[in-house]
Parts: sequence; C-alpha cells; structure tokens
Amino acid sequence: MKNISILGSTGSIGTQTLDVISGFTESFNIVGLSAGKNIDLLYKQTKQFNPSIVSVIDESSAQILANKLKSSKTEVLFGEEGAISVACHPKTDLVVSAMVGASGLIPTLSAIRSSKDIALANKETLVMAGKLITEEANKYNVTIFPVDSEHSAIFQLLSSSEKKFLKRIIITASGGPFLDTPFEKLHNISVESALNHPTWKMGRKITIDSATLMNKAFEVIEAKWLFDVTSDMISVWIHPQSIIHSIVEFVDGSMISQMSLPDMKIPISYALTYPDRLNLNINNVNPNNFSCLEFKEVDYDKFPSINLAFRVLEDGGTLSAVMNASNEIAVNAFLERKIGYIDIVKTVERVMNCHSNSSEYNLEQILYVDECSREKTKQLIYN
Ligand code: NDP
Repeated sequence: MKNISILGSTGSIGTQTLDVISGFTESFNIVGLSAGKNIDLLYKQTKQFNPSIVSVIDESSAQILANKLKSSKTEVLFGEEGAISVACHPKTDLVVSAMVGASGLIPTLSAIRSSKDIALANKETLVMAGKLITEEANKYNVTIFPVDSEHSAIFQLLSSSEKKFLKRIIITASGGPFLDTPFEKLHNISVESALNHPTWKMGRKITIDSATLMNKAFEVIEAKWLFDVTSDMISVWIHPQSIIHSIVEFVDGSMISQMSLPDMKIPISYALTYPDRLNLNINNVNPNNFSCLEFKEVDYDKFPSINLAFRVLEDGGTLSAVMNASNEIAVNAFLERKIGYIDIVKTVERVMNCHSNSSEYNLEQILYVDECSREKTKQLIYN
C-alpha cells in the first residue's frame, strides 16, 4: 500500500490522479489533499477518499469546508502552511505535486526536505529553482518521478542504455493551437482560441503556456534538471499528433521513442508505481490511430519562448525564476484581456533583459527575485 498526498487535487492533474487511484484502492491510500478554492470538489474528494488532512487556499474557505466535514475526522488546514502539512504528513510516502505555478515551490521543497518521493507535475518548481531542488533531492535521498508526458517518456527511454551513450534528448511539442497560424495573424489571437488546445485538456495557465510554447520552454529547463544534461543535448521538435511523447538519441545513431495516445493517466500512473505498471485498460490502438506522424522544426520567430529557455540554460542562476514569475503575471494579464497574445513572451523577455543575474542562490533569493519580477512585469503591463 502506497500512501499518497496530492497538492492540487482539484485540478486537471489532481483529478486524473484520483481517477487512476480510484481504480486501484487496494494499492493506494490517500493521506492528504490540498486545493485552492474549489471547496465543493475537495469536499466530494474527501468524502470518497477519507484523507487524514486537507488544505485550502484561505481561512474562510477552510471554515466552510470544516463545517461541511463536521462529522468527519479529517483535519482541515489552509494557506501555504496547510499545503506544507499535507505534503509533509508523516504517513505520506509519495507527494503528487500538481499545484499550478509558483505556489507549488515551497510545499514541494518542504516535501523533499521531509524525504518524501515526488511525482512532479508542477514544472514551475524546477524552472524557478532547479539547482536547489535537485541538490535537496540528492541530499534527502528523494526520487523525483516526472509526470509531464514528455519527461515520463524520456525517463522510460533513458533506462535502455547507459547515460554515457546518450547523445541527445528530443522533446516533442504539439505546437499548440497556433502552429499553422501565419505570423501576421498572431496579433489578433483571442483568449478563447488560445484556450482551445488541439490535443490536451489541461488547466488554464498551462493551456496558455502551450499556445505560446512557453510550456515547452519550461520543459526544456525541466529536462536539464531532471536528467542532468547540457543545453546542446536538448532539442525540441514539433509533432502535432502528440503520439510520440519524446525521443532519445544515442551515440550510435539509435533513436528510441515512447508512444501512446495522449492520455495523462499513463504518465501519472507510471510516476505513482514506478517501476511497476498498472493495467489502465486503455483501448487497443489500431494503425489508423498512428497513420500520420509528422515532425517539423520549431519556428523560433513565431515561438521565441523556446529561445528564452536556451538562454536560461546558458546563463543559469536566478534568470530562470524571472522567466517563470514574469510569465505568470503576463499570462494572467492576457486572460484578463489586458495584453495581446504576442505581448506575453515579449513582456517576459523585457523583464528578463532588466535582470541582473546571480549564479548562486538560496530559497530566500529565489523568492525575492520572484517578487521583484512580478512587480516589474506589472509595471510594464499596467502602468
Ligand atoms: P489546474 O489549474 O487544473 O489545477 C491547479 C491546482 O492547483 C488546482 O487544484 C487548484 O485549486 C490548485 N491551486 C491553484 N492555485 C493555488 C494556490 N495558490 N494554492 C493552493 N492551490 C492552488 O492545473 P493543471 O492540473 O493543469 O496543472 C498543474 C501543474 O501540472 C502545472 O504546473 C502544469 O504545468 C503541470 N502539468 C499539467 C498537465 C496537464 O495535462 N494538465 C501536464 C503536465 C504538467 P482550485 O482549483 O481548487 O482553485
């Protein structure tokens, strides 16, 4: 029996994780659930999975939930401290980190410092503080299992040969909804069309990140930290069908890929059970499902976010946290219709250009850089 806590249980990854777990109740026990504001769904999840502890974003939401759960033994907490308590609960073996954005950093780091293994969906944790997170994971003997489908693919593929034979990791990208949109039409992109991803159903922030390819940029940074590779060993290829989740190339020219229909339950379940696999009863695929597998170069003029990721890998340090923080503010501003689609990445680049980089950092410095970058981004957008 594996004891699981989920940070972000009411989100896209959180609910899919609970879907997987509900089919294998003999193998998993839910210890803790943390959510933001969706009290109704967290209440339902608590009734179904009977966790020892739950947490919500603020005190008033916690009071409402505690009233609803009066007759249950589940402890109700709130705020960052609450999420940390969920992540670090003594009974927890593995924490699914699936909060969105920077809110995931401290609870995930706290879980690592409590020696909990991590199933990591919240890539922003590694974008903000990859060096710190991987050093702490080594120090506390923690394994980070990737949940991102691309990184789950690479994780599976790397086991086929020794690391010294690895030449390159090729991360695939669907290209998002604007892959074929002419450059000059990018000025008129609506929020609705940006939220309409062609292959994946995800939360709002990652859906916009997928439309700008910022999500792929973050995945490039995530790959560097998860697999300890240099920037020249990472490529991004467009693959619109999202069937091949990534490719690993070895020094002899062999290229091995991992493929499946796009279904996040597959990488989620692998992160929960590695090295075992669950029978997810996925329908058999037939040749028609795989009849058209295309690959293309990224158009870096149209999707400059990827260039920013490689710049971050070259420069290192706190610049990565700037990129993450600024992007979060810019995405919100786009969703609020304050800026256009192409302004998102342009704004992030402008904020990165203003940053005085520091190669060494601790958590406090990252949090400071995060705050300053948010302020700078707001100044650029709202003043
Ligand atoms: P969602 O927006 O669907 O869910 C986010 C979750 O985090 C919700 O449970 C939400 O609570 C909670 N949350 C949001 N803000 C806070 C906060 N300040 N404090 C506490 N909890 C908070 O996102 P996704 O599930 O799509 O993505 C989650 C993470 O996984 C992201 O980092 C994303 O990049 C990554 N990821 C997602 C994939 C996907 O297919 N969705 C694929 C690969 C990675 P509530 O809803 O109750 O307000």
